[in-house]
Amino acid sequence: MFPNRVLCNAKGTDLVSNRVLWNKASMLRHLWALCKKEDILWVKWVHTYVIKHNCIWSMNLPGDSSWTMRKLFGLRRVGHQYIKAQIGNGENTFLWLDNWHNLGPLLLKYGDGVTTNLGRSLHAKVCSIIHNGSWRWHRSRSAIVRDIIANIDPTLLPHPANEDSVIWTLSPTGSYSAKSAWEALRSSVSEVGWYHLVWHKRYVPRWSFIQWVTILGRLNTRDRLMDWGIVHDSSCVLCLGNVESQAHLFFACHFSSRVWLGIIAKLGTFTRDWSLTFEVSWGSHSCKNKSVWASLFKLCLAAAIY
Ligand SMILES: [Zn+2]
Repeated sequence: MFPNRVLCNAKGTDLVSNRVLWNKASMLRHLWALCKKEDILWVKWVHTYVIKHNCIWSMNLPGDSSWTMRKLFGLRRVGHQYIKAQIGNGENTFLWLDNWHNLGPLLLKYGDGVTTNLGRSLHAKVCSIIHNGSWRWHRSRSAIVRDIIANIDPTLLPHPANEDSVIWTLSPTGSYSAKSAWEALRSSVSEVGWYHLVWHKRYVPRWSFIQWVTILGRLNTRDRLMDWGIVHDSSCVLCLGNVESQAHLFFACHFSSRVWLGIIAKLGTFTRDWSLTFEVSWGSHSCKNKSVWASLFKLCLAAAIY
């Protein structure tokens, strides 16, 4: 779950890490073969006896599966980003689970409740929203459905005469290439400047996890939940006076800013600019050492966000 530490050193790419990346890239090649349903015996075997009618991205692997199969399925989260379904008649593409829409897999984007918005099951296929070669969206007042419709690529139209297919989005030809997989894997494990601010020796896992999500801008604040129609009030739960956005919570809100200023005053420091962006940027540069003060600052920032 946690991001890996940097894999390249100043002298060049670490050979062990390099081998791990190439192994993963070759596993992605097998995942690609499964999604593409290549005409190979083992692919047919896995589809017949393991995947059956399930969705490869969401199914649980049987407990007695081989080590190779577990490794292969362990790479689904990575593969899901790059293996995209091309809609033909929509009969082989899962509406909520496959990566076919501009917004990516819709279940990942909107969460479990998404299926209730269109009254379709989790395993509904894209063909259930196609009628006479066009999209057929049921009338819905749901903000999520409006968001899905508004963000669909206007050039993305069903082609009822064709079967659905898959493409590898990292290569211009749409076919898997080991080099593109290796480069994507390498960049996904590159170090970010704030890494040591979040993951360090004395971190508290839950605090660090929330801090990590927050720095990535993925915290489900009430403004986002309201956009998705999950809540009907976006007021900040701390001050009740402003829209609860991430920028407001960290630390434009007068309540949270007082808490944060109180904490950093105890640490013997002061700042006139206490946005999260500033603190992360400042902490990334100033707390690289292992001093007690640096550790305290990291813990305090993580605790304040949590
Ligand atoms: Zn507030």
